[in-house]
Amino acid sequence: MSFKNIKKDFPILEQKVNGKNLVYLDSAATTQKPKEVINSLNNYYKETNSNIHRGVHTLSQKATEKYEKARVMIANFIDATSSKEIIFVRGATEAVNLVASSYVKPLLMENDEIIISQMEHHANIVPWQMVCEEKKAKLKIIPIDENGELIINKFNELINKKTKFISLNHVSNSLGTINPIKKIIHIAHQKNIKIMIDGAQAVQHLEISMKDIDADFYCFSGHKMYAPTGIGILYGKKELLEQMPPYQGGGDMIKSVTFEKTTYNDIPNRFEAGTPNISGAIALGKAIEYINKIGISNINKHEEDLLNYATSKLKKINKVKIIGEAKEKAAVISFIIEGIHPHDIGTIMDSHGIAIRAGHHCTQPIMDFYNVPATARASFAIYNTKEDVDELVKAIEKCIKVFA
Ligand code: PMP
Repeated sequence: MSFKNIKKDFPILEQKVNGKNLVYLDSAATTQKPKEVINSLNNYYKETNSNIHRGVHTLSQKATEKYEKARVMIANFIDATSSKEIIFVRGATEAVNLVASSYVKPLLMENDEIIISQMEHHANIVPWQMVCEEKKAKLKIIPIDENGELIINKFNELINKKTKFISLNHVSNSLGTINPIKKIIHIAHQKNIKIMIDGAQAVQHLEISMKDIDADFYCFSGHKMYAPTGIGILYGKKELLEQMPPYQGGGDMIKSVTFEKTTYNDIPNRFEAGTPNISGAIALGKAIEYINKIGISNINKHEEDLLNYATSKLKKINKVKIIGEAKEKAAVISFIIEGIHPHDIGTIMDSHGIAIRAGHHCTQPIMDFYNVPATARASFAIYNTKEDVDELVKAIEKCIKVFA
């Protein structure tokens, strides 16, 4: 499979930035969108736009059909048992908040414990802090080691009778670490504890099967997998979703409403109050079609090659230090350069037309662990090439010269 021509599928990558060909290395923040996805949004508003579920007219039925077809495609993509287990949300952040509010909060008592890890995105920290504060429960943290890997022994030690829930990321957005989630889920289930996996940085890189990993909840954002912003997925096991109260009230999530009593709709509609992001859901389906066309295992192999190539090149540059050297990594490289603030690195890269991210990447506890204020981060996707890595390396070398 050749990845040479894939860039052509992404119109935004044709432009120049600061007079240079754009090299986009910020896909962990958000990926660019292929023509198919952009056209899908355009076509939806040109041909199908209508509200779903409630209309008998043709456009409404067409829109409903496409929206529900996207749900089935997503269920197949992550190998869920049923499309009823797929809830459309705004993104991973909303999915975590939904589970914290509708599943965990009702079962949490004073002094109970929730386990997360030191490498979580703020989206998988703050909702748990909020729910713990409200219910006077405690948050327990699995530590990481210098390589940026979870210390599994410590995880085993943290689990006890008070542990009510676990929520961990599949892939770290700032270190790239791929966590052994199947093993972790197995440990949790042996102790009868339910577990959520934040897959925001995983689904676009790895083949994933809900049936295989057996997660109770799993979530991700469309915009990190070639789809638009404002659409994401919460997967939940049917038997859990069915017992959960709604997250928000409003239209479409009810069976009947009187002023005395409202009965709620079945899943998944119970968790989709109000008019959803219809065009976004359909475009997410298109993004999945696009990924499937290339093949997730081909994508994985391509990105792994880029990661290995970039890692070996960066390691050869004096003064560059890679932050996060787990054995299993996705195509994300955080690095620092001795004597240069990451924000300055980011600005200089931009002057060369190279888009990287500089900051704490919404993972401040990781920055504290490595005792750095921020890192520079290059992250790769299907449209990147070894030439992109060469441009990055050249620009870093120039950057070091400027500051020397
Ligand atoms: N978890 C991880 C690991 C992430 O990388 C991100 C986005 N950077 C999120 C959660 C939150 O995703 P979103 O902002 O799309 O809700």
